[in-house]
Amino acid sequence: MAAPRFWREIPNRYNLIGTKCGNCNKVLFPPRYICPHCRRMGKLEPYKLSRRGKIVTYGVVHVAPEGFEDQVPYVLAIVELEDGPRLTTQVVDCDPNEVKIGDEVELVFRRIGSDNEDGVIYYGFKFRKV
Ligand SMILES: [Zn+2]
Repeated sequence: MAAPRFWREIPNRYNLIGTKCGNCNKVLFPPRYICPHCRRMGKLEPYKLSRRGKIVTYGVVHVAPEGFEDQVPYVLAIVELEDGPRLTTQVVDCDPNEVKIGDEVELVFRRIGSDNEDGVIYYGFKFRKV
């Protein structure tokens, strides 16, 4: 399915973009094409999410997948954004022992990994303690 035109027009590289339903006001992330509450009655529009949230739960990863070995140990958390959606994300720039449930975090953009074949470096969102 081709992305609707508005997805291509939004500069979403430095923001988290979800969708908001104009019918029930629910904010959804990742973005959806159909509101799970309203179905065909939903009116979904792109919505710029809050850059702040808090840690709902977390774990410390000691054994990393291939390509992430140099980052262990790291914190993988479920963060609830101020707008409501929850997402799984890495929490960076902190000692894993200093992370607690309820900590305030904010969005940052970081290198995620690189493609060894062509040297392209990928960036994506992570969070750090406020
Ligand atoms: Zn809805």
